[in-house]
Amino acid sequence: MTAIVASRNPLRSRFLWKLYAGLVVLVLLTASTIGMLVTRQFTDDALDAARRDLESKAILVADVLDAHHDDWSDPRLLKRVTEIGAKLRTRLTVMRRDGTVVADSEGDPATMDNHGDRPEVIAALENGVGRGTRRSETLGSDLLYVAVAVKKDGGVEGVVRTAVELGALESRLAELRTIIAASTVLAVAVALAIGFLVVRRITAPLIRMTAAAESLSSGDYGRRVPSSSKDEVGQLADSFNRMASQLENRVRTITNDRNKLAAILGGMVEGIVAVDREKRVIHMNAVAGGFLGVSPSLAVGKPGADIIRIDEISSILRQTIDDAREVKGELVLARHPRRSLILETLASPLRDGEGNLIGAVVVLHDVTELRHLEAVRRDFVANVSHELKTPITTIRGISETMFEDAEMPTKTRHRFVQKLQNQAIRLSDLVGDLLTLARLESGDGVLSSSLIDLREPVRYSVNAILGVVDEHGVRVETDIQKRPVMVLGDEQSLRQMISNLLDNAVKYTPKGGQVWLRLHANGNDAVIEVQDTGVGIDSVHHDRLFERFYRVDRARSRELGGTGLGLSIVKHVCLAHGGEVSVESEPGQGSTFRVRLPLATA
Ligand code: ADP
Repeated sequence: MTAIVASRNPLRSRFLWKLYAGLVVLVLLTASTIGMLVTRQFTDDALDAARRDLESKAILVADVLDAHHDDWSDPRLLKRVTEIGAKLRTRLTVMRRDGTVVADSEGDPATMDNHGDRPEVIAALENGVGRGTRRSETLGSDLLYVAVAVKKDGGVEGVVRTAVELGALESRLAELRTIIAASTVLAVAVALAIGFLVVRRITAPLIRMTAAAESLSSGDYGRRVPSSSKDEVGQLADSFNRMASQLENRVRTITNDRNKLAAILGGMVEGIVAVDREKRVIHMNAVAGGFLGVSPSLAVGKPGADIIRIDEISSILRQTIDDAREVKGELVLARHPRRSLILETLASPLRDGEGNLIGAVVVLHDVTELRHLEAVRRDFVANVSHELKTPITTIRGISETMFEDAEMPTKTRHRFVQKLQNQAIRLSDLVGDLLTLARLESGDGVLSSSLIDLREPVRYSVNAILGVVDEHGVRVETDIQKRPVMVLGDEQSLRQMISNLLDNAVKYTPKGGQVWLRLHANGNDAVIEVQDTGVGIDSVHHDRLFERFYRVDRARSRELGGTGLGLSIVKHVCLAHGGEVSVESEPGQGSTFRVRLPLATA
């Protein structure tokens, strides 16, 4: 397993930024709420402390006044209040029950108006203590006031009021708020920095997993994510890697199976075309493409009828899908460029794992050669029977006649016996040639293979024919090279080949004609030429001349005792020796048969 870290810039992750944005909002909300609450609490506490301080001072001053000053009209009271106010750093105001100011540490009581309407004074007269925050007309600034009732003999004598300027308190509070705000900003910055690292740590494996999943989906099944932690993210990474391995194995198995199947189908000699239920091509191997003249890669996915364009194949595929059964057939593709193709077709239904019909497959088997061989065999049997029939019928007729006519004159009997002998020779030649052909066609190992100087079989055949040429009134001339012409082969077959060519040249050359036999080496070939001045052969026959039982003029061949197998034997001997035979001839102009055999290499 290859652990490849999927490369992806984590800072580009939308998930990271979404998560972080949530964290930022949460941190800012929390910090601002806490900051506000703390600030308010500090403000409230500071005001409370200031009030309590003022109240204690007011109570203290009230006690002092109660103890030492029975007469509030005494001018020393004013002096005393001013001194205490200065010491306490607090404004002190002493007023009678009716609100008339008797003494004030920071103002002249004579100029001050009646304070009986002040809310803190009204509250002190009613409840013993009164508080308030107001702008002082006397001092022209915001003040915090606390008033305390001064009691004497069970009644209220007057009110002592303490006051401080809010300005000093406010500036202390402002300092405090600045410190709180700075600490909050610092805490937020630290929280956001730590939060970013945490968020990145959480999202990093997910980002890697996303990148790896994207690689998997695009076909790179080797991608894995490193799983370092044991938490849920680590477990997710492990599960992901297991899933990726399984997927890789499955894809590998499927790919291998598909490749094997493609190799099997591609290597088959049969053409294969598979279609789905809608008759669209789902597979076509190269052989089928060749038969049908289409490119398999272009055919896949297209409608079968458009691609195949052969009604028989389309119809058997349709029939197979409609009836869900095998359909066999045979068709001839006449339009094929080289020759007509004969194809055996077998269409079978295609089913899935549950047995549902999902399409059809047709196997196209090229039986052209088979059908051709069958035709050749049929022709051959017919030809052989025909060839045998004539001499056998003749022999039967003659023997019956001789049997029935016991009194037959000796001369006639001799003539009949002569005929019987001719037919027997004919039969013997026929059977001999057939056996030779069978031997040559049966393949390797039948012919011996030794070094032969071709001049030997050539001389042998010429000598053999010399006995009959006089009879025919034909002259035979030879032109044999002086040096040996060595080939690797079977002497007996080579003799027969040369004799057959010479026989034909003599047979098909009228009296007074001429036959030449030439032998020489030319390049890497040994060339044997048999030329005559005989009847010649029209070029229409040249291609078929070497077929078994093919004769240009049947009657003449039979009359001359030909079996129709001579040139066929020549061709097979040539092929068995790795050579070739050709003919040049025109009617009335004579013929030249030329055999080329590869020279034996030293
Ligand atoms: P056959 O026994 O009839 O001679 P071959 O196979 O030897 O059979 O020859 C096939 C046919 O080719 C012959 O029937 C004849 O018509 C023609 N043929 C062969 N050799 C010659 C030749 N030298 N000149 C003219 N025709 C020839």
